[in-house]
Amino acid sequence: MLPAKVLEQVREELTDWQGSHCSVMEVSHRGKTFMAAAHEAESALRELLAVPESYRVLFLQGGATGQFSAAPLNLARADSTVDYLNTGAWSKKAIDEARRLTARVNIAADEGASRYTTVPAAGALRLTEGASYVHYTPNETIGGVEFPYVPHTAGVPLVADMSSTLLSRPVDVSRFGLIYAGAQKNLGIAGLVVVIVHEALLGMARPGTPAVWDYQAMAKEGSMVNTPPTFAWYVAGLVFHWLLKQGGLTAVAAHNQTKAQLLYDAIDGSDIYSNPVARQCRSWMNVPFILADPKLDSTFLTEARAEGLINLEGHRSIGGMRASLYNAMPLAGVDALVAFMKEFERRRG
Ligand code: PMP
Repeated sequence: MLPAKVLEQVREELTDWQGSHCSVMEVSHRGKTFMAAAHEAESALRELLAVPESYRVLFLQGGATGQFSAAPLNLARADSTVDYLNTGAWSKKAIDEARRLTARVNIAADEGASRYTTVPAAGALRLTEGASYVHYTPNETIGGVEFPYVPHTAGVPLVADMSSTLLSRPVDVSRFGLIYAGAQKNLGIAGLVVVIVHEALLGMARPGTPAVWDYQAMAKEGSMVNTPPTFAWYVAGLVFHWLLKQGGLTAVAAHNQTKAQLLYDAIDGSDIYSNPVARQCRSWMNVPFILADPKLDSTFLTEARAEGLINLEGHRSIGGMRASLYNAMPLAGVDALVAFMKEFERRRG
């Protein structure tokens, strides 16, 4: 969900944006007003994450899925291996794409044995010396599995698909070579993917890389090799400012942790709900849970919907339920869900 304040501001200025007598969707992306808003959004993001000067921030299209291709196209050297950690559905998709584009993909960890309910131990990664990069998914959105640590890669660039965790808490950007995140979770709306890339990794794209996914070309042109997703960029800027107003990412992290703990406590304390993920790597953002009797799933979802509790269906690939607790979800939303779950258990348990 988006913060209500952001939606209200969008509504407020939709037909007359900053005195332009038209909407942000109708101005030129190279005009002064949009360029100023675009820069301001980048500054706010840099402030939130304390992005070091040596990193470029790009506002691109093609989603995180586009970045599954862009990462190998830009960073995989012809003569070396790329390492991937497989912790679930989204890592798997990144791996499939890397395999299409590079010959040597090493799976440095695969949590299949636990049915992707764990992350590998920090010391158990089978990393390749001299690899082009190590790729991982800090938060698996479908499985609800989150790394409680940042992998050490002995100088090899670390690449992270942070689609469902970026801006949920502070992160030490300097540990990463490349971070990317689709905007539609914590950053704003679909249509935009944010890329944070160390400048040392620019200029290595293989011949044939589409210009729209060439990090150096995009960095040089201020993400405007082509027309950027202006509306999504504008909304992201509003979200970044809203986050700064909340007290920045330390405050946001405390809020997120409280929300998640409340829900996990309710699940663990019940006889009919369960969450399969190992406790030390449970996601703060996506909480999947199942009912002891899966035949009750649809009743649960229908009754929840009647209480105004929506979007609780588990991902279509695994079923069950999933509560996504992105930044804009208020504590009251989690309280309402927990109260409903308790009442449902009392009646059906
Ligand atoms: N990676 C992760 C971790 C995701 O959660 C998602 C979307 N849910 C994607 C990649 C794919 O993102 P997109 O649809 O923006 O390509």
